[in-house]
Amino acid sequence: MADFDVIIIGGGPGGYVCAIRAAQLGLKVACVEGRGTLGGTCLNVGCIPSKALLNATHQLHEVHENFEKMGLMGANPTVDWAKMLAYKDDVIAGNTKGIEFLFKKNKVTWLKGWATIPAAGQVKVGDDVHNAKNIVIATGSEPSSLPGVTVDEKVIVTSTGALALPKVPKSMVVIGAGVIGLEMGSVYARLGAQVTVVEYLDAITPGMDAEVAKAFQKILAKQGMKFVLGAAVQGAELTEAGAKVSYKLRKDDSAHEIGADVVLVATGRKPYVTGLGLEALGVEMLPRGQIKTDDHFATSVKGLYAIGDAIVGPMLAHKAEDEGMAMAEILAGKHGHVNYGVIPGVVYTTPEVASVGATEEQLKEQGRAYKVGKFSFMGNARAKAVFQADGFVKLIADKETDRILGCHIIGPAAGDLIHEVCVAMEFGASAQDLALTCHAHPTYSEAVREAALACGDGAIHA
Ligand code: FAD
Repeated sequence: MADFDVIIIGGGPGGYVCAIRAAQLGLKVACVEGRGTLGGTCLNVGCIPSKALLNATHQLHEVHENFEKMGLMGANPTVDWAKMLAYKDDVIAGNTKGIEFLFKKNKVTWLKGWATIPAAGQVKVGDDVHNAKNIVIATGSEPSSLPGVTVDEKVIVTSTGALALPKVPKSMVVIGAGVIGLEMGSVYARLGAQVTVVEYLDAITPGMDAEVAKAFQKILAKQGMKFVLGAAVQGAELTEAGAKVSYKLRKDDSAHEIGADVVLVATGRKPYVTGLGLEALGVEMLPRGQIKTDDHFATSVKGLYAIGDAIVGPMLAHKAEDEGMAMAEILAGKHGHVNYGVIPGVVYTTPEVASVGATEEQLKEQGRAYKVGKFSFMGNARAKAVFQADGFVKLIADKETDRILGCHIIGPAAGDLIHEVCVAMEFGASAQDLALTCHAHPTYSEAVREAALACGDGAIHA
């Protein structure tokens, strides 16, 4: 008899959510996690610590930029970096312990250690081999490397090193203008570092609606971040003063160098499946390193499944969580499902940037007729009151049917505002459905409604 109905390898948002839901559905569940704490990349070295530092430095920015304007005078807070890091570590600990509590509450067994899969239906942790009816791989991802760049996690760092630098650098080069690079760059820019972002493409945040990306870059530049776009990094090396990055501008092939105290390599992440023994098992992989799965997360080996960052799709905690829940339901004989058309993406800078569904560029490529309703936060009283009127909501709907196809927001609380559009999209709502829904005043969400009104007869406060 199997020891467990399911053993999940990896205690990140994909794995722990799958474990909890599977246990709630009556299965006997174990979750293997090799890191000392649960929560995976997200809680330990990803979403949560980065948001703690973004919060602390946002408050600092508010003090310097806006307090006097509101008549709040006096003491100028200085940064105690060690204390700020301790705050971040407390936030991590609170959250990872929370998952431990949830495991106990739901009777999920935490097998501590690194797992291998010696044969189908078996998971080895340390010297112990456990039998399982099903195995779910949720081992996540790790930072991608860049040719010519050797990371030492002290001076040339990945996001993991950037979350625990020994001191605040005076200057930082961020290689890669994706979400992680811009969030961490923003943290250090607010702490006073001169931050230069070097990006291969000609725009920041690849894949984001181009109009939003352009506005975003402008706002970040206004906050003091510098951008070198269309630049192919050739390498980075340590110097006496820190490190230097060499790059070639793609437009004319000219060679350049830029020095900084710290270089953050933020060029993306790749699936982490090292040491599981997948090759020996004959698990089919995709060319970019992900485990190949079907629509029900099944790999090419019977009884072996995979979810989260280790498979295709956006590398996001909530995508992993949704897959974790759907996976558990499938294993319990139910109909687990993830709607990949409605997965929001958020950048937690100030202002926040959020999007869901199609961009204008994608719809143009598909040749689909659409209309755009746009509303600036300049017309939103609440945003103006808190000095966050930079930005806009852009709602995209089908030209004929008015069905909402996508939404892109740059502005205050964009990461929360996006969810009313997500719900609307889940229900196949039209822009008019949103426009006819009463929104409380004064809230930022009125801007979403105004964008929906702009898809029809026009916004009121534009
Ligand atoms: P992971 O969270 O990576 O968890 C996998 C776990 O498996 C790890 O704990 C690992 O130790 C364990 N493991 C691996 N191999 C084994 C083994 N053989 N045996 C035992 N255990 C093993 N996403 C968002 O949605 N929002 C954000 O704001 C956000 N911010 C981010 C900021 C940063 C700096 C980074 C790096 C990432 C961020 N992400 C964010 C991405 C998010 O963290 C990942 O998408 C998410 O953690 C993926 O979940 P997962 O469960 O697939 O894998």
